Parts: sequence; structure tokens; C-alpha cells
Amino acid sequence: MQRLVEPAEIQNRVRTLGQQLSQTYHDQPLTVLGVLTGSMLFMADLVREITVPHRMGVVHASSYRGKSTVGGELRVGMDLLPDIRGRDVLVIDDIFDTGRTLERLVQALDAYHPRSIKTAVLLLKEGRSMVSFNPDYFCFRIPDVFVIGYGLDYNDDYRHLPFIGSLEPHEI
Ligand code: 5GP
Ligand code: MG
Repeated sequence: MQRLVEPAEIQNRVRTLGQQLSQTYHDQPLTVLGVLTGSMLFMADLVREITVPHRMGVVHASSYRGKSTVGGELRVGMDLLPDIRGRDVLVIDDIFDTGRTLERLVQALDAYHPRSIKTAVLLLKEGRSMVSFNPDYFCFRIPDVFVIGYGLDYNDDYRHLPFIGSLEPHEI
């Protein structure tokens, strides 16, 4: 395993993003919406750096299956979605790879009549996008490698690691 982003770098960048969001969403009905399961750690740290009042909620999306590192069929679940009508929604995900997950989610969330929808990701994978938009906010740009840690898994392991690492081909 190779370490790509250290905990202190994550902390610094998340703090800066939190400050930026606190200004942007000042006096707005913000709902931070985390995409389970990968965004749990990022979301928990980010909301504590957003100093303006806001609500939290979660939705579910998954595309990876078991030991595969390529996306399978995308499934989204809205069962846990709080009421977002008239609210400014910030969707939080771990990584923007092809962008299909966030594209699908933003489309689906639109039906619940939020006032606005923006997206923020921890990682932006280079040269992979297959959609016509970019996330509104991201923390780190990374090369096209398979990453784990700080919420991201391989076959459900590694999510708890406080750093971001990449797995070598022989490890996957
Ligand atoms: P997208 O729909 O943008 O292609 O993929 C987004 C989802 O795929 C992320 O939420 C994440 O669950 C998964 N994903 C994409 N790249 C990686 C990666 O390098 N490592 C891990 N663990 N998950 C990834
Ligand atoms: Mg995910």
C-alpha cells in the first residue's frame, strides 16, 4: 500500500473547505447530504468545520461489488432522505470518478424540490469523468489509481484508516 494523503493534509484541506462553505451558505437553509457509505468520515469532519447552522442527512449509493475495483450496476437509495424541499442541498461524496453516481443523485434529488443542489467531494480522480459537470468543490485531485482509507473501501475493508492510500495491483 502506498500512502497518498496524510491525516494532517486532510484536516487542513477539510478545514479550509468548511470555512469556504460557512461563507457561501451563511443565512441559507443548508442541508449537508452524505452519500453512504464512503462519505462518512469526510462528512463527520466537514460538518464540524462548517460554523453556520445546518442540517445533516444521508442517502445511499453503491456501484462497486465485492472484490471488483470497477463500477458495477449503480444503485441509489433515498429511504433515509430528510425533507429537502426549499433547502440548499450540498451532496457530499468520497470520490468523483466517472461522475455517474453524483449525476444520478442530483437528478433524483431534484424531484424533492430543493432550492439548490451543489456537490462536494474529497477526491477528484483525473481523466475519468464521463459526465458533463464537475463537482462544485473538491479537496484533492488524484491520479487514476484505486484508493482506500478515510471512508473508502476495498471489499468493505480499510474504511477506518485515517489516511488515503492506494493499493498496488498485486493487492487487489
Ligand atoms: P463514480 O460514479 O463517480 O464513477 O464513482 C463514485 C463512487 O465509486 C464513489 O462513491 C466510490 O464509492 C467508488 N469509487 C470510485 N473510485 C474509487 C476508488 O479509487 N476507490 C474506492 N474505494 N472507491 C472508488
Ligand atoms: Mg460511494
